[in-house]
Amino acid sequence: MKKILIILFALLICVSLFGCDDTAAESKADSVPPVSEPSVSEEESKEESEDSIIEVSIPDVSEEDLSLWFDEFTNGYFSASTLEKEVGAVQKDIVFADLHGYAIQYPSFEKDGADGEIAQVLKALKDDFTTFSADLEAPTVLCIDYSSKTNDGYTSVIFNVEYVSKEDDVLKHFILTRCFEKNGEPVLIDTLFRGSYREIVRDEILSIFSEDTELAEKFTEHDIASITNEGTALSEFVLFETSVDFLFLNSDGTVVALNIPKTDIRTAFINVNSIPRKLDPSKKMIAITYDDGPDGRYTNQILDVMEKYGTVATFFELGEMIRGREEVIKREVALGCEVGSHSWEHFNMLKHSLDCLQNDKDKVDAVFKEVLGYTPTLFRPPYGNVNDDICEMYDMAVIGWTLDTLDWQKVSDGGRKDTQALFNYFVNKHEAGKLDGQVALMHSIYSTTAEATELIVPYLLDNGYQLVTVSELITYKLGKDVTPGVRYYSGYTIRANKDCSCD
Ligand SMILES: [Zn+2]
Ligand SMILES: [Zn+2]
Repeated sequence: MKKILIILFALLICVSLFGCDDTAAESKADSVPPVSEPSVSEEESKEESEDSIIEVSIPDVSEEDLSLWFDEFTNGYFSASTLEKEVGAVQKDIVFADLHGYAIQYPSFEKDGADGEIAQVLKALKDDFTTFSADLEAPTVLCIDYSSKTNDGYTSVIFNVEYVSKEDDVLKHFILTRCFEKNGEPVLIDTLFRGSYREIVRDEILSIFSEDTELAEKFTEHDIASITNEGTALSEFVLFETSVDFLFLNSDGTVVALNIPKTDIRTAFINVNSIPRKLDPSKKMIAITYDDGPDGRYTNQILDVMEKYGTVATFFELGEMIRGREEVIKREVALGCEVGSHSWEHFNMLKHSLDCLQNDKDKVDAVFKEVLGYTPTLFRPPYGNVNDDICEMYDMAVIGWTLDTLDWQKVSDGGRKDTQALFNYFVNKHEAGKLDGQVALMHSIYSTTAEATELIVPYLLDNGYQLVTVSELITYKLGKDVTPGVRYYSGYTIRANKDCSCD
């Protein structure tokens, strides 16, 4: 059962505030229908009325009357505010000219990042209002009020934005949020979420609603429609340490928040590695591994699958392949996949001296450090060929495999370098109950492997497997630490014979 919090913010619509305000009612009684041609002088209007049929007489509203009305309106709007302003000093921006005005309350944090961002937000809102109201003949006010609070070090501001006419019609009503780090830097949607985040969040919300119809009913049909529409919805949110409130404006003017744990929409985040994966050790797990990359084409095709399904694999990469494909291994890490070393140039380690291997390792370590900022904790020796001396020298956890898919070998030679044959291998292993807790060896340099991955991943997920990294499998399934110098899983039969060709 998902833990869902519903927070209702009392965002009152101007109409209701204004309606129960005595001063406002008085001014309303004095009010007259909107001026239809504000820029036309009285003389011209009269001329025009003689030539054409005018059904409604043009009222005469003096500038003084309008400005009196605006003052009363603004006072009523601000004094009726119920929005909680927990942080930031309240600032006001009140302007009225040429029929249209602003009645804006906004916070100042005395932090350049936050105040600069809020200034930009307000400018954009004013520009939009100016465009909207350009052809409006009725006096109209851009009303902006806000609530502000801090959660887990984040500061959030929720702006309530309304376009209200002199007749108290709310022509437009929406909310807009901004979150800031402790230092005041804004957390913007583009730096927080991936481009595809709406789809991920929407799927999660719809799955929450399908499990909890009572909750779904708290969101009006309008809001559910906006959740399922691409583009506009899901832009307003409040951040917490381990969760996000997505905010929706219901048609009755209330704001409804749907709280979603970050782990449930983990792949929506750009910095996916900062969010722990939700794993259940009692459920099935499999670690898929890909060697010999990164490949500019097929590794990305495999990563597209991981991104689409929000899951991970482990890539044992060759130092010499990383050059020119730095973005590929960065993407692996960004998606939460694990990256291990597979040596620089695919040595058969048993045929080289330790000095030679040390030199190879130094080169690989340097390129990983340069591109990722760290050296991997996992090492998979090419062909699985390794001995105790090499393990000790390498000082990384040495990873073999338990399932050899033979994805590199032609079917005619007994292998599975074939999309369907490779997929069938996983289906057969699953049906035989031999996939849970396994480490499957594949290679990221074949089109057939990449295509088979598009079939294998959804198949495994549909059958209840958690796709995990090798380190996660060791930790959660074996209950062991990932220890440098220790060998995990077997490889091919070790072929000895030292025959160093590069010394
Ligand atoms: Zn050598
Ligand atoms: Zn290899």
